[in-house]
Amino acid sequence: MGKSRLDGKVALITGGARGMGASEAQLFIDEGARVVITDILDEDGKKTAERLSPDGSRCLFLHHDVTNEADWDAVLKETLSAFGQIDVLVNNAGIFERGTVLDTTLAMFEKTMDINVTGVFLGMKTVAPHMVQRKSGSIVNISSVAGLNGTPGFLAYGASKWAVRGMTKGVAKELAPFGVRVNSIHPGIIDTPMLQTFEAAGEGVREAVRMRIPLGYEAEPIHVARLALYLGSDDSAYSTGSEFIVDGGWSA
Ligand code: NDP
Repeated sequence: MGKSRLDGKVALITGGARGMGASEAQLFIDEGARVVITDILDEDGKKTAERLSPDGSRCLFLHHDVTNEADWDAVLKETLSAFGQIDVLVNNAGIFERGTVLDTTLAMFEKTMDINVTGVFLGMKTVAPHMVQRKSGSIVNISSVAGLNGTPGFLAYGASKWAVRGMTKGVAKELAPFGVRVNSIHPGIIDTPMLQTFEAAGEGVREAVRMRIPLGYEAEPIHVARLALYLGSDDSAYSTGSEFIVDGGWSA
């Protein structure tokens, strides 16, 4: 059997209890990595970690609110004590609430920015010193096609995902001299629990959205996970500060 693409590497994936984060954790483990998944959903997180690594040797779940700096410090400490290093950070945790400029409340805007932007900032701030010291590492920030275009009804979410894209580019240039790469992923419509918000928006909304996807179907989390694997692995050694789109042609 050939060498797996993440042999010997350790990945930290936020919001990994379910959805795309859990799919990334599964694929990374299949490719030889040891993975720490973190989330505020403790029950789901523990179950996912047990499913991915029944003996606990390849996957660990830690409770983690990405908006809390003390939680980040604890996650860094516990990950290093369990697995010794962090090679890949996937800033995946995020929330989506629909709202236009006319009906988005300040509270909703601030909550979205807190989780989707401050969470990514704190992740990079906490883990970058370790990666800089090792002169190696890959940070993968999950943005969205809503971070590439203006999307009606996505006021707070769009602002947050544009911010993730912008931070990614600046930090990529800051960390490049230290051998640390930073890229963003821009998924289109992916079939995860987050999509239930489309169903909540009214009958037929999800179908109408699906019809706008040139490839004609919603992605599975694994489609995004494969891109995260590429960016986390040395296969993408010459890519940094770039945006990688996985959207079935949506934004073409
Ligand atoms: P999910 O809601 O399935 O997963 C996101 C996870 O993050 C959830 O378990 C969620 O918990 C958790 N989370 C929320 N707030 C926090 C917090 N403060 N600290 C730690 N974890 C938290 O969503 P997806 O898998 O669909 O989304 C993953 C990423 O992909 C997100 O950044 C999302 O914005 C992005 N994305 C998703 C798309 C899609 O179509 N699904 C399209 C484009 C981008 P809880 O349920 O309690 O909120």
